[in-house]
Amino acid sequence: MCGIFGITGHKEASRLTYLGLYALQHRGEESSGIVAYDGKKERVSKGMGLVGDVFAEKTLKVLKGSLAIGHVRYSTTGSSFEKNIQPFMVIHKRGHIAIAHNGNLTNTLTLRKDLEDKGSIFQTSMDSEVIIHFLAKSKETDIKKKIANALSQLEGAYSLALMVDGVLVGARDPHGFRPLCLGKYDGSYVLSSETCALDLIGAEYIRDVDPGEAVFIYPDGKVESIRPFPKNGLSCCIFEYIYFARPDSNIFGNNVYLVRKQLGRQLAKESSIDADIVMPIPDSGNYAAMGYAEESGIPFEVGMIRNHYVGRTFIQPSQEIRDFRVRVKLNPIKEVLKGKRVLIVEDSIVRGTTSKSRVRTLRDAGAKEVHMRVSCPPIVSPCFYGIDFPTKRELIAAKSSIDWIRDYIGLDSLQYLSMDGMLKSMPFSRDQFCVACFSGKYPTHIPRRVSKKMLEKRR
Ligand code: SF4
Repeated sequence: MCGIFGITGHKEASRLTYLGLYALQHRGEESSGIVAYDGKKERVSKGMGLVGDVFAEKTLKVLKGSLAIGHVRYSTTGSSFEKNIQPFMVIHKRGHIAIAHNGNLTNTLTLRKDLEDKGSIFQTSMDSEVIIHFLAKSKETDIKKKIANALSQLEGAYSLALMVDGVLVGARDPHGFRPLCLGKYDGSYVLSSETCALDLIGAEYIRDVDPGEAVFIYPDGKVESIRPFPKNGLSCCIFEYIYFARPDSNIFGNNVYLVRKQLGRQLAKESSIDADIVMPIPDSGNYAAMGYAEESGIPFEVGMIRNHYVGRTFIQPSQEIRDFRVRVKLNPIKEVLKGKRVLIVEDSIVRGTTSKSRVRTLRDAGAKEVHMRVSCPPIVSPCFYGIDFPTKRELIAAKSSIDWIRDYIGLDSLQYLSMDGMLKSMPFSRDQFCVACFSGKYPTHIPRRVSKKMLEKRR
């Protein structure tokens, strides 16, 4: 999963992009990058790590110009190594192209093979690079036709911020899997994965980039839009609402916090139980737990506190301390938990190993009973559209019954939200969502060879 940001028409473009990426950090912590253009020269800065660690004032000073795009990455296709950091930029004989991509293409293997057979040489293992090749090879002089031709060859999920010969381009795939919005700041235009980045820089939200739309923002401030694809049914990723997006963002036209609370309310309607307290696993379960508590009337408590200052490189004690990795992040409040029947609200269970350690920590802290309610159905299939779920084999609900998962995690009871309940909680029509990781029914054709492992093996 990734976060993308772009701005044009502002002298502080790279600094504003830095701030935008800061707000989008939750969408990718592995690497960060910015490309800026001053009308003559493109400059790139990128590195492995968090936005705050990769960029310094002196780096941003070098990234001159009024046009910039940026990217934070969590690798899905393509391993996590430096060559794969985005934005990816090339200079070719007719100009320059830089790309920041959120989502996964599903027909990359075929496209890449065709391009390689025709002599293209790839520099990275990212699916996004095929888009660069299509654009660079295009003989089309009209930028709108060039983009439409390139996009028409892609299948799968893409929200893009592109810099093409000084023009900022935003585009979304016709299914609209991933969010992308357009804003305005101080006379300049902004593209962002989520509205929380617009809020951070004080930009005004104008609208979402529509599924199947490409928006062109020219250096003189003119904005044009094309919709080159026939309407083919929406498949917005429901998991963005459940877990991924920031609760203070509006995505797909609606606020994430409110949707999560509604999921919690629906969960309480479907799976009530006698408990003394309702608590979230912070932070992602917070809002569903609040909704559950409101609906059920069971008091909401914070039974675990998150340490926000744990980096990924903390030094562990040489002596094994039980559940150290969990406890360094989340510390239970014994006085809240002791002797209580605790109901935990989780947003999702993927492998089950983290939940198992957390439940053990709660029991060690004195909880009398530990029950769990999950604000989505069991995840049974991998995602091919850009969320980094493990393979089917590693998904606990793909191979085990709910009773087995309950015992494995060490719970007194476990219930998931129903598919119907999840879709009922959404702010718009149920047939406009992708729910493939819960149903195994993918809204687009998935070639048999497409799986993360096979992609890696091939490369
Ligand atoms: S498979 Fe799941 S995570 Fe992937 S796009 Fe569909 S709903 Fe989202």
